[in-house]
Amino acid sequence: MTVTRFAPSPTGYMHIGNLRTALYAYLITKHDNGRFILRIEDTDRERLVEGAVDVIKDTLKTTGLLWDEGPEVGGDHGPYVQSDRKPIYMEYAKKLVDLGAAYYCFCTKERLEQLHEEDATGGYDRHCRNLSKEEVEKNLAAGLPFVIRQKMPLTGVTTYTDAVFGEISMNNEELQDQILMKADGYPTYNFAHVVDDYLMQVTHVVRGSEYLSSTPKYALLYDAFGWERPTYVHLPLLMGKNADGTVSKLSKRHGAVSFADLVNDGVLPKAIINYIALLGWCPKENQQEIFSLEDLKGLFSLDGISKSPAVFDFEKLLWFNGEYLRAMDDADFLKVSARFIKSEIHEDINKNKMLALLKTRISKLTELDEKMAFFLALPDYDKELFLNKKNKINEFDTVKTVLCAAKDVLTNVESFDNDTLFAALAPLTEKLDLKTGAIMWCIRIAVSGLSATPGGATEIMEVIGKEATLARIDCALAKLV
Ligand code: GLU
Repeated sequence: MTVTRFAPSPTGYMHIGNLRTALYAYLITKHDNGRFILRIEDTDRERLVEGAVDVIKDTLKTTGLLWDEGPEVGGDHGPYVQSDRKPIYMEYAKKLVDLGAAYYCFCTKERLEQLHEEDATGGYDRHCRNLSKEEVEKNLAAGLPFVIRQKMPLTGVTTYTDAVFGEISMNNEELQDQILMKADGYPTYNFAHVVDDYLMQVTHVVRGSEYLSSTPKYALLYDAFGWERPTYVHLPLLMGKNADGTVSKLSKRHGAVSFADLVNDGVLPKAIINYIALLGWCPKENQQEIFSLEDLKGLFSLDGISKSPAVFDFEKLLWFNGEYLRAMDDADFLKVSARFIKSEIHEDINKNKMLALLKTRISKLTELDEKMAFFLALPDYDKELFLNKKNKINEFDTVKTVLCAAKDVLTNVESFDNDTLFAALAPLTEKLDLKTGAIMWCIRIAVSGLSATPGGATEIMEVIGKEATLARIDCALAKLV
C-alpha cells in the first residue's frame, strides 16, 4: 500500500510551496487509495511559532487534504508530533552507535566555535569519531553533554534514484558527520524524519527539491539500519516573477505567497488547489485546466511531475479564480462573498441580483466593494459620456428625448424586474425610431454613470429599484438642460 506523509515544521504561515508539497503527497497516495499521514516536525525548538500547527491543520481541512493518520485523528503509528516521540529517537540513535554508523561527540561549544573561526567552510573535524569505548563510557558516566553524529563513509559514492530527478550521486568524502541527536536530547530533522518515515511505513517521501542533495545522507541511514529505502519524490522549485521579468525562488517579495494571504485576498481555496496542482505537474493527454480535487486524485501520476522549476503567476491564479467564481451557484457565492463586503447595502438594493451580476465580472472577492459602488451611489459623471458613435447618439437632444420617454414608461410600470422592464421599454424603439441599443445606452449611462457596467440597463434598474432609477434619470435630465 502506498503511504505518504506531509511533515511540516510549525514555523509560521503555510507557504504555497508547502501546500503544493502536501497536495502532491496527498494525490500520490490517494491515486492508489493509500494512506496520507500528517506529522508535525517540531524538534527545532527555537523556530517554533505559536498557533502554527493550527494554521497547518486548518489549511489542510479547508482544502480537503484530510489526513488518515496524525494529530486529532490518531492512528497505529503515533504519536504524530515529533516532540512527543523523543525517547524513540534516542533508542534508535544508540542502535546506530552499536551498528558502528554513529558516534558520541563530546566536543564543547568553544572547541567547535574555534574550528569554525579557523575554517568557516571546513565543518566538523571528526575529533570524536574514534574515541575508544572506554573513553565514551567515562565521559557519559561523568555526565558530559554530548551529541550523536552520523559516521559517514570516507570513501566511495552514495547514489539513490529519485522518482523525478533520476539518479543522484554524492561522493562520500563530501558528506559531513552530521548531528543526529542534539545536546538537548532532541533529534535533528536529519535523523528524526528517517526514523519516523521508517516506523510509519512511508513508501514515498515527497518534499521540496531543497532536500535533493542531503538525501544521500538519509539513504545511508536506511542502509545502516538495514531498512529498505523509500521512493524519493523531490518536487521542482517554485519560482516567483520579478518586476524586471526574471524569476527567483518564490518568496514574500513576490506578494502574497501564503495560503491565508491568498484567501484573504479573495481567492477561493479550490482555485488555489487547482492552480498549484499544475505548478510542476501536468496530466497526460488532457488539455483541460479545471480540475477538482476528485479529478486530480484520479489523474495524478508520478511521471507527470516535471523537474523544471515552476513559476507562480498570480495573474494565472486569478484566471482560475474567475472560472471558479463564475461556476458557483448564486447561493454559494452569497455565502463566500459575505466576509469581503465592507460597503453598507441599502435595503432597496436587490442584493442577490447585484451579486449574481458581479459574480461573473470579478477575478477575486476583494474587488466586490469597488465593483458594486455604482449600484450603491451614482458616481459623478460628465454628460459627454452619453455621446456614442456606435449607437449613433450624437446629440444631447436625442438623449433627452429617450430619457423623458423612458421616465414615463418606468413611472407606470407595475413590476421592476428585468423582463417586465425590458418588455415595457421595447415599444420605444418604434415610437422614437431608434435602435434598442441606442435607447438602452442612454438609460444605462443615466442609471449607472459608467460607460462599462456589469449587466445591462434593465438589470441595473432591477438592482437599484424604482425610486433610485427615477432619481438617477432626473439627475441625468438636469445635466442635459
Ligand atoms: N519538516 C521539513 C520541512 O518542513 C519536512 C521535509 C520533509 O518532508 O522531509 O521542510
